[in-house]
Amino acid sequence: MADHSDIEWTEATWNPVTGCTKMSLGCRHCYAERMAYRLQAMGNSSYLNGFQVTTHPRMLDRPMQWKTPRMIFVNSMSDLFHEEVPESFIRDVFTVMGTIDRHRYQALTKRSDRLLELSPRLRWTPNIWMGVTVENASQLHRLDHLRRTGAALKFVSIEPLLGSLGTLDLRDIDWVIVGGESGPGARPMEERWVLEIRDQCLTHRVPFFFKQWGGVRKKKAGRLLQGVTWDEMPRSDRKGAGSFHAIDAHSRPSWRPSVIERV
Ligand code: SF4
Repeated sequence: MADHSDIEWTEATWNPVTGCTKMSLGCRHCYAERMAYRLQAMGNSSYLNGFQVTTHPRMLDRPMQWKTPRMIFVNSMSDLFHEEVPESFIRDVFTVMGTIDRHRYQALTKRSDRLLELSPRLRWTPNIWMGVTVENASQLHRLDHLRRTGAALKFVSIEPLLGSLGTLDLRDIDWVIVGGESGPGARPMEERWVLEIRDQCLTHRVPFFFKQWGGVRKKKAGRLLQGVTWDEMPRSDRKGAGSFHAIDAHSRPSWRPSVIERV
């Protein structure tokens, strides 16, 4: 579990599930896998199974213990919609998110087909931000699945961006995050792929967040895109979900969460 985060677009992480299996090109250098084995070696009780999919019912009450409202990334160390996570457990997670509603929750999946299948049976509340990861043009169908769910606020994390996405269908998409891969063996990201996405976000007035260039030394590479920090967030008045305002990236400094990551 991680009660703080330095992921640029969230404030804390909550991992009622850990472990996953790789399913598409974006998974190749999975950060969660690396961390899981490291934490297992350190004897962390949540990672006794390493990177095997494991549910942690004892973690379900964690958001209740956080009295101050936070932006919480759900399952940074797994994929909530993994086929080995029982539907009943996913529904438990949604019940917690709907009940402890002082927080906003950001859930992100690559298993968009299972997300769509379960959507009618999930308790969607306005504080749940649902996202899919798309790494290249062959995974754009995940956006179509997301669009058909009951989530009030829908977003896409395009990280690691591995190629041009071409024309995007941004209908009903409330937020776009883009980032390059970081860490050992990081695959390069071209500026024109990022600009292509940013320009479509500008055209369709969708908040755009540029997370990082990535690379082996991601701090050095930074997160300026043609000299500008793009930190836009979803609007508070959009379907009543969220309370951040879209930021004018040309006039505002970088948005940063107030807390630091400890996995
Ligand atoms: S879906 Fe996410 S957590 Fe699972 S293997 Fe792929 S990158 Fe890792």
